[in-house]
Amino acid sequence: MSKPLTEELQREVDKRRTFAIISHPDAGKTTLTEKLLLFGGAIREAGSVKARKASRHATSDWMEIEKQRGISVTSSVMQFDYSGHRINILDTPGHQDFSEDTYRTLTAADSAVMLIDVAKGVEAQTIKLFQVCSRRGIPIFTFINKLDREGQSPFDLMEELERVLGIRSVPMNWPIGMGRELCGVYDRLKNQVELFQGNDHSKIEVRKVADYRDPIIREMAGDYLADQLINDLELLDVAGDPFDLEKIGNGELTPIFFGSAVNNFGVQTFLENFLELAPKPTTRVSVSGPVEPTNEKFTGYVFKIQANMNPAHRDRIAFLRIVSGRFDRGMSVRHVRAGKEIKLSQPQQFLAQDRDIVESAYPGDIIGLFDPGIFRIGDSLSQGGEIVFDELPTFSPELFAKVTAKNALKHKQYQKGIDQLTEEGTIQVFRTTSFDDTILGVVGQLQFEVFEYRMRAEYGVEIQLQRMPYQFARWIVDEKIDPSKYRINSTLVKDKKDNYVALFESEYAMRTAMEKNPTSKFLEMAP
Ligand code: GDP
Repeated sequence: MSKPLTEELQREVDKRRTFAIISHPDAGKTTLTEKLLLFGGAIREAGSVKARKASRHATSDWMEIEKQRGISVTSSVMQFDYSGHRINILDTPGHQDFSEDTYRTLTAADSAVMLIDVAKGVEAQTIKLFQVCSRRGIPIFTFINKLDREGQSPFDLMEELERVLGIRSVPMNWPIGMGRELCGVYDRLKNQVELFQGNDHSKIEVRKVADYRDPIIREMAGDYLADQLINDLELLDVAGDPFDLEKIGNGELTPIFFGSAVNNFGVQTFLENFLELAPKPTTRVSVSGPVEPTNEKFTGYVFKIQANMNPAHRDRIAFLRIVSGRFDRGMSVRHVRAGKEIKLSQPQQFLAQDRDIVESAYPGDIIGLFDPGIFRIGDSLSQGGEIVFDELPTFSPELFAKVTAKNALKHKQYQKGIDQLTEEGTIQVFRTTSFDDTILGVVGQLQFEVFEYRMRAEYGVEIQLQRMPYQFARWIVDEKIDPSKYRINSTLVKDKKDNYVALFESEYAMRTAMEKNPTSKFLEMAP
């Protein structure tokens, strides 16, 4: 009886790939996503994802953001099929929408694609997102984009990855020329050249060659570029890191692909190699031990809650990452924290175009659960058991504001709002040790806006936010903490579990405090 299910799960798990694309705004994430969806036949015309993005960023007016929330729910996860695989792309929003959710979403991915602009190299937001992925030890694949433009040399980019991100790299292909001179890429694994054709680079021709010294390349690219290719690849063969699947698997080595998303150049080979190398849905850690994806009991956890910003519809969508077993619509599962059985009756799946009611789903898939307010971020759901997945990490906030209610008589509502929205993960809350002031911490400006809006719409409380100059938070672990040492360009506060947290105005202030308190540990996340 149970055998067929295990086999079915194995089959479904084998074909799934769930990943996030991490990049700095403008590197070409929307463009690349769109090309990938086109390959999968999930969208019919180029421009659909773009149009959606345009409508998302058209204005920062709050009512617009509200509407956009509805839209961004659909684009938070995109699912499509390609050559026998089922692919789930998790969307991480651009800088205007950057929030702690962005980081949490990465915990639902089994691998990441790091997209880098060939001219700009590693940029600020890429660094932050990379670090979150790197801490989890998931494989990271690099796509260097905009090769049709003049950019840094591939060797400089490899060196930058190592210097800035601390990761070594192995180029899977190598550009033949760049910018206006770009004529193609050489595929190191398959020994073939992919050539750009025509002035607008609209056609791509693939030719098998013996190796990078093959005279065919010289014929096609000319002496100068052929010599450069031979020089570069000889150097890589001798001095570069060898291809090592194990190191790629644990995130120590990143395979690099060069291409141009807008010209659809190098995208298809990237996708095919990626699908071969990227991990299928992985075993996840729970409090009671590892949970295999092929475990027949359904389990999953909530990594994000999207509030519906329409006051007439208070419902939310809880995003659930399936860890094991098969999900069937209408099934009953245990909501472990709440200690009760619940029926999952209106699950939604996110296809490239729309959301749809899902009938069944498998490990690696993300489903949206209608949430009348019963879920919190990090909640575990499981079938026939009390499986609890490890707590989702909280991330070090970088923006801080003191919050007060405009009307002191609304104190009760105000407190309730703060408590609930903190629990939900909308913001982090701290208290000052001296005056018991409430300080909010966030990683993106949008979180303040969402908080302010929801306090008004859902709790009827107008609040005042007063920005504070702090930029860094560190949780302090020490037997004895001396608050007098955190007075200059810093302050000492407590989080909701009464841990001490120091807030600093600058990196310099933080370093000074570390030097002055050699026995203390300064942690980026709550202990
Ligand atoms: P996102 O902010 O990362 O989603 O970036 P977009 O996909 O919106 O791209 C930002 C800009 O870069 C757009 O104007 C794209 O047309 C352009 N772009 C994307 N890929 C390429 C590429 O391969 N070459 C060139 N020259 N431009 C590109």
